[in-house]
Amino acid sequence: MSDIIQLLPDHVANQIAAGEVVQRPASVVKELLENAIDAHSDHIKLIIKEAGKTLIQVIDNGVGMSVTDARLSFERHATSKIRAAEDLFEINTKGFRGEALASIAAIAHVELKTKQENAEVGTEIKIEGSEVISQEVCVTPKGTSISVKNLFYNIPARRNFLKSNAVELRHIIDEFHRVVMAHPSIRFDMYHNGSEVFNLPSSNQRQRIVNIFGGKTNEKLVPIKEETDLVAIGGFVGKPEYAKRSRGEQFFFVNDRFIKSGYLNHAVNAAFEGLLKDKAHPSYFIYLKVDPKSIDINIHPTKTEIKFEDEHALYAMLRSTIKHSLGQFNVAPVLDFNR
Ligand code: ADP
Ligand code: MG
Repeated sequence: MSDIIQLLPDHVANQIAAGEVVQRPASVVKELLENAIDAHSDHIKLIIKEAGKTLIQVIDNGVGMSVTDARLSFERHATSKIRAAEDLFEINTKGFRGEALASIAAIAHVELKTKQENAEVGTEIKIEGSEVISQEVCVTPKGTSISVKNLFYNIPARRNFLKSNAVELRHIIDEFHRVVMAHPSIRFDMYHNGSEVFNLPSSNQRQRIVNIFGGKTNEKLVPIKEETDLVAIGGFVGKPEYAKRSRGEQFFFVNDRFIKSGYLNHAVNAAFEGLLKDKAHPSYFIYLKVDPKSIDINIHPTKTEIKFEDEHALYAMLRSTIKHSLGQFNVAPVLDFNR
């Protein structure tokens, strides 16, 4: 009898993990923007070329990294955001899995420049396919700039299956929308092939939504607001007459994270019952704040699905809050008892 099991080398393990974390350029955009947010940046710049196929760069003015941390950040399971298993039940950051940079560096050419506020100089690292090519001292402003070039250069099957630039750019913009709406107080700029696509000043939820979806959006937003021990509900629903055939403008944010939830979507639809024409979908931009202990974010690598402790109560609260707001703004049919 002979033993045949071996531990996989790191670069192979990283490449396997990358298969889950990085589906397309938009996945890289999400991970890099989230890292910049976790670094407490108040201005974040996204620069892409050819829909992210040749370049995705994120420049932030956050806390930066030390020389050692800059190197460690590319190791798998290396994170500054949690330390122990119990921290998983109280996540206050976008990241915590410590695998995004390791995964990205396994399947692209990556250049990182970073400097902490009080450091004299910064550090610059180049990595290709998990292999550190160089690490040198550099002059760079406070914060971090990370460039991801030639995504999937070593996985031809993945690279060939990328869609047209128009489609990949659409995915990037969708991801960008979700991130910037979750963080309206942060200033964001986006450039594609050298032209400015977005220039979003620091603002509030309503203004950020209007900046993204256009001035006409403002008049169709009905604010919603409710606060209990379980949840604080804020944000807006679109007036019924603005409901659409497509599901384009439907957003849930839980503790500043975009999430998908068929169940909560059902609660919104239930609140709009009787107000919408057949097959129309309401627009909504709903911001929920809950105790981090009452949710589990760690069900999927991309963290867009989460588990709520008290789903049923949340459903009922959301439905009644929206119903109430629609009634208040006289957009629901109101019964007149004085007639
Ligand atoms: P995670 O975000 O889950 O911790 P990542 O692989 O995305 O894992 O990042 C690893 C670590 O690198 C982070 O925990 C953080 O300490 C550091 N890091 C990554 N990006 C930045 C950034 N833009 N600014 C400062 N630190 C960063
Ligand atoms: Mg991260």
